[in-house]
Amino acid sequence: MTDRKPLAGRVAVVTGGTRGIGLAIARALAEDGTSVVVSGRDAARLDSAVAEIETLGASVLGVAADQSKREDCDRLVDAAKERFGRIDVLVNNAGITRDQLLVRMKDDDWDQVLDTNLRGVFLMTRAVAKSMMRQKSGRIISIASTAGAMGNPGQVNYSAAKAGVIGLTKAAARELAHWNILVNAVAPGLIETDMAAGIPAEAREALLQQVPLKRVGAAREVAEVVRFLAGDGAAYVTGQTIHVNGGLYM
Ligand code: NDP
Repeated sequence: MTDRKPLAGRVAVVTGGTRGIGLAIARALAEDGTSVVVSGRDAARLDSAVAEIETLGASVLGVAADQSKREDCDRLVDAAKERFGRIDVLVNNAGITRDQLLVRMKDDDWDQVLDTNLRGVFLMTRAVAKSMMRQKSGRIISIASTAGAMGNPGQVNYSAAKAGVIGLTKAAARELAHWNILVNAVAPGLIETDMAAGIPAEAREALLQQVPLKRVGAAREVAEVVRFLAGDGAAYVTGQTIHVNGGLYM
């Protein structure tokens, strides 16, 4: 008998791992034995996330990095490799919203959301793919959204970025399969985090009415699916988008 954890010896990078869904993912992967690198823009939030994950007994590195910037993405990947020597799992989780009706949306609302939520996923995926190709193994998991599959009013920028993440996931899965790198997306519905707290009460209630399970999801419930996709049980799963939404979108 051994109590070796299922992902012991592996290294995971979770962007936006300082709160919400990203922190829940970092915790779940740390529980399974990975060393974890978390990123975010806010240094104080990084410190508290690192301290929290360390209580699980995991090795953790926090790196202040903006995922919409190429230099920051490259620096994050370099820091992870320098500290832990390899990257086995990349979770592209960092994301923002700048909601506005189409006709009122500013260019800047569009650019910021696309730069963070889609360009950032491309930058990080490209940056880790090279070392995963050398390793001939890896898992890349991007957090999309039901908005990317069904569209949300007031979110043309966000819905377009998340639909882009789903397309990127499929194309990268086809390209990288040769090196045993599996690329998947997880698409959450309404999940209780700071981001969801920004949704006006009326819109939130209207959305909830459409959820067959009639409740908001927990960050942990998204993290459990990421945990599965990062593990050995998902060895024949690639190019997929797994929806975690209480039935909101089927
Ligand atoms: P939160 O706003 O609660 O957390 C976002 C995280 O991303 C924080 O750690 C934040 O840290 C980080 N972040 C934001 N922008 C950047 C950036 N440019 N560079 C690096 N880190 C960044 O969001 P959620 O946990 O709710 O969302 C996580 C993911 O799940 C996102 O991709 C979101 O689109 C997606 N999602 C969420 C849903 C929900 O209902 N909550 C539904 C569907 C999808 P900091 O601010 O310090 O940079």
